[in-house]
Amino acid sequence: MFRYAEVLVDVANRRLDQSFHYLVPEYLNLKTGMRVLVTLQNRKVQGLVVNMTDDLPEEMEGVNLKQVLEIVDEDSLVPSDLIELAHWLSQTTICSIAQSLHTVWPLLKGKVEAWIVLLASIEDSDVQTLQWLDSEAFRGLTVLNRARKKAISLKVFLKRANISVETLDKLLRHGLAKKEMRFIGTAQSSIEQVIEPEQNKKADSDKSQSGRTYELTKEQATAVKGVLAALEEGSPQTVLLHGVTGSGKTEVYRELISQVLAQGGDAILLVPEISLTSQVARSFESQFGEQVIILHSGLGQREKMKAWSEIVSGLKRIVIGARSAVFAPLPHLRLIILDEEHDGAYKQDENPKYHARDVARKRMDQRKGVVLLGSATPSLEAYAAGQTGKIRMLSMTTRIGTSVLPPVEIVDMRDELRQGNRSIFSLPLQQKLRERVDRGEQTMLFLNRRGYSTFVVCRECGYVVSCPNCDIALTYHTQGQAMRCHYCDYKELPPHTCPKCGSRYIRFFGQGTQRVEEEIQGLFPDVPILRLDYDTTRSSEAHHTILDSFRRQEASILVGTQMMAKGLDFPNVTLVGVIAADQTLNMPDFRARERTFQLLTQVAGRAGRSSKPGEVVIQTYSPRDSAVVRAANHDFQGFFWEEINYRKERKYPPFTHIIRVLLLHEKEDRVIKGANALGACLQQGMQEPEFGNTDLDILGPAPAVLSKLRNQWRWQISVKGTRQDLLRSFLHQGVQRFFKSPSSNGIILNIEVDPLST
Ligand code: ADP
Ligand code: ZN
Ligand code: ZN
Repeated sequence: MFRYAEVLVDVANRRLDQSFHYLVPEYLNLKTGMRVLVTLQNRKVQGLVVNMTDDLPEEMEGVNLKQVLEIVDEDSLVPSDLIELAHWLSQTTICSIAQSLHTVWPLLKGKVEAWIVLLASIEDSDVQTLQWLDSEAFRGLTVLNRARKKAISLKVFLKRANISVETLDKLLRHGLAKKEMRFIGTAQSSIEQVIEPEQNKKADSDKSQSGRTYELTKEQATAVKGVLAALEEGSPQTVLLHGVTGSGKTEVYRELISQVLAQGGDAILLVPEISLTSQVARSFESQFGEQVIILHSGLGQREKMKAWSEIVSGLKRIVIGARSAVFAPLPHLRLIILDEEHDGAYKQDENPKYHARDVARKRMDQRKGVVLLGSATPSLEAYAAGQTGKIRMLSMTTRIGTSVLPPVEIVDMRDELRQGNRSIFSLPLQQKLRERVDRGEQTMLFLNRRGYSTFVVCRECGYVVSCPNCDIALTYHTQGQAMRCHYCDYKELPPHTCPKCGSRYIRFFGQGTQRVEEEIQGLFPDVPILRLDYDTTRSSEAHHTILDSFRRQEASILVGTQMMAKGLDFPNVTLVGVIAADQTLNMPDFRARERTFQLLTQVAGRAGRSSKPGEVVIQTYSPRDSAVVRAANHDFQGFFWEEINYRKERKYPPFTHIIRVLLLHEKEDRVIKGANALGACLQQGMQEPEFGNTDLDILGPAPAVLSKLRNQWRWQISVKGTRQDLLRSFLHQGVQRFFKSPSSNGIILNIEVDPLST
């Protein structure tokens, strides 16, 4: 028994974010994850035990500690592995344990109750002949037998059956019933809670074998075998499934999940955006029925509680959802799948700033299970890990059936201007659009409108003004009317004419989807057009409405942002157009080329997915950029090797880690002063022997890409280095020093480990 408990107080209210140590009285059988009553400033408050220990932290020694007063639940509210996960999360993402805990276990308000589950059938002659089975015991069995799903809360059971604790003990000892701890979401529903006993599970998983209507292809079968082999090893594994668009990855997931279920395990399937993949989710529901639960951000507190208790109690065994579903507390979790693992949506940009991939890996380390990463365009990190043998790699190289990857035409927009075409649509794209309209086929047009600042590009020769120090596009800011580098703060005035070709058509780039829609309506006045972007999809239903309408072919053209690139399968789409590949390409970020490649490949993957052949047009001012060319040639390998060498040379991830600190303040001069002070504190740290001879590198201070947001000015400093632990302690020291300086007053620090965009 441990002597001290570390208790996070007032957890349900999120107000206090601090833990305190309390003495554990010997008569309390306290466990991590239990809720307790403690005194705090002469008040009785509820808290959660996040740690049990025999040693106090140094600064606490000699302090007069109070005792834990009482245990609230009958058992741990939060399973101990999830408490461990919360600790890990707070360490690796540098945020408080309270924030981590609320993320890992968003419902600190339910309760844990003991339940009694009937195991035997009471008609059994064996039961009837048991010698000791007196009338009291028999009454107990009858009550259980009549209970819904043959399970009942212990309290209610004892009352209804009116039996002694000794008799209950006998029932348990002879294996006629069992006691288990259950998380009950809403207090009032606890008695009627519909919970399925173990026996019924099996029947359901047998049913799950029969859902598929076609045989797996050879490639699919090999992939399934590969993952099953990893599962059988019984050690934590990560597997990357690199399968081209339309190669049938979803079918592989389905088969694996059905196998895992048959073996008694549970699984999580993560998708980047649940609203776009509801199709997939629905088909899983139709195969696995009641065992599937779909988690999405639209769930209210009550529904979430219900979901959580159904998951904890084993009623739901497959969880499908976006990033936060990675925390689903499935008791027999064996497999976590991340579909489209390269997608940026897997990274949370609020505290804790975790990446679902890392959380999945940590959870499967705990359970000795498998993380399956699936993508047509794996992240450089994942593919590099596959190349070096750190993770297993499987690949599927051909599309299902007769469908083939579509040919891609790159259109040089500089030529279009030269030929006098000032429209945002090139002549080849216009012509192909017309063909689809005439043939009654459908087209998807993509425009990427991410980011708020713009880069400066010459419309005649494609020249992009970039930083001489960082090899990254400079961005134009209306404030100050200057171009700036967001890595090193290099500044320059925008040129009047192109430095390369002297053209006057060097202008500030940027068009919205609305503009595209209007212009296309001008070209095709009678053709129905749909638009899918952040403006048209504010309500979660709008997604479905628009996509369903397009699926029913009520519109010939769908215009949208990159949110359309994900996982959509429309058989009648035979043309895909990318309005401006340059928009991602010139983002001021070292991942810009990787994103461009991924986006173009995914987008192209939407065309020609059935027997009708597809075509893709990419418009760009950089027709020879290799990210564009490689994507057009469906050449992932070529792209990977080129890009990984570039990253290595420039010491960018995956060869290094980055921690970025964002400083926020309402006043610009204050934030600049703060950023400089933090910079100086970090520089000072470099003088220390611990950090002096390392490869740590300080970048900035510089204004953030979004230099002002919600009335706050934003500056940033990044630190780069190969060792993450060293980076963290270096930054920690620097920040501590900074907090002692007056320049830190009123500054908000926002720290992110391994940010996806910089
Ligand atoms: P991906 O996710 O790899 O892009 P999908 O899983 O969406 O590909 O599969 C593409 C299409 O092929 C879907 O319409 C799917 O129903 C179909 N499909 C998948 N596997 C098979 C198979 N073994 N036989 C026939 N059709 C299949
Ligand atoms: Zn030029
Ligand atoms: Zn620079």
